[in-house]
Amino acid sequence: MSEHPLRRLLITDLDNTLWDWFAAWYASFSAMLDRLVELSEVPQAQLEAEIRAIHQARGTAEYSNLISEVPSLVRAAAPEDPRRAFDDALHKLHSQRRSSTRLYPGVEEALRTIKAAGVSVVAYTESVAYWTEWRIRHTGLDGVIDVLYSAPDHDLPAGMTVEDLRTGYLPASAYGLRVTQHHHVPRGAIKPNTQVLGAILDDQSCRPEEAVYIGDSLMKDIAMAQSVGVLDVHAKFGEVQNRPEYELLRRVSHWSDEDVERERQLAETAGLIVPTLSCTAEFAEVLPVFGL
Ligand SMILES: [Mg+2]
Repeated sequence: MSEHPLRRLLITDLDNTLWDWFAAWYASFSAMLDRLVELSEVPQAQLEAEIRAIHQARGTAEYSNLISEVPSLVRAAAPEDPRRAFDDALHKLHSQRRSSTRLYPGVEEALRTIKAAGVSVVAYTESVAYWTEWRIRHTGLDGVIDVLYSAPDHDLPAGMTVEDLRTGYLPASAYGLRVTQHHHVPRGAIKPNTQVLGAILDDQSCRPEEAVYIGDSLMKDIAMAQSVGVLDVHAKFGEVQNRPEYELLRRVSHWSDEDVERERQLAETAGLIVPTLSCTAEFAEVLPVFGL
C-alpha cells in the first residue's frame, strides 16, 4: 500500500471489520436456540421459521423482544410470560454475547495510531443503534471512534419503549456513548446506498480522495466505496460467508430471500467486485495508506 499524505479520514465498517460480529451472534443465538428447543419442545425448524418472520418484520437479527413474540413459544409458555418461562435461554444469549464480543487482534492499537497521526475515525454500520453502542462500550472503543453513523433503532412493539427492552439483562449504564458522537442515517438506507456515504463525507467536510473506507463485505462496503470514489480497503480477514455456521444466519436473518441468494452467489463467484486494497490477515495492514 502506498503512502498518501492527504488522507485525513478513515471510515470503517464495524461488524466483522473491527470485531467478529458473526462469531458472537452465532455463539449467543445458537446457545439460546438450543435451550429454547429443550425447554419448549417446539421443533427447531418451526422456531427458526417463526423467528425469521419476526426478524424480517423488525429489520434485524438482534431483536431484543424476540422471545415474547414467537407464537409457538408464547403458546408453550402460557399462561406464564415467555421471557420468564425461557429465562435460562435468555441468560445463555446474554452471557455468550458478553464473552464472545471482542475486537480482532491489533484493532485498538491500529485505530489509536491512526488517530495520533491526525486522522479522524468514523464508523458506519447497518446494525441497530443500541447493540452497536453496547459493542463499542464493551470493546473499549468509546472515544476511539470519533463519530458513529448507524441506523435508528428498529421499530418497537406497540406500547413498548426502548427502555422496556433494556430492562433486566444489562444495567442502564451499559448503554449510551460517553465520548463518541452518534449520528443516525435515514431509516431504510442500506449499503451499498451511496447517498449515505456521500452524506458522511459532507458531514465530515471531506472530499472522497481524502478518505479511506474499510469493510468486510464486497457487495456492500467495497461496492459502495468504489462508486463514491473513496479508496476502498477490503477487510478480508472478516469474511465469514463460507463458514458452515453461516447457514443458521441465512435461515433466521431479516434479509430477503433475494439478498441471501445474491450474497451466496457473490461468495461463490470470485472476481465480481475486486477491492483496490486488501487486509488479508489483520486490520493493522491498513496503516500504510496513511503513511504509517
Ligand atoms: Mg461488516
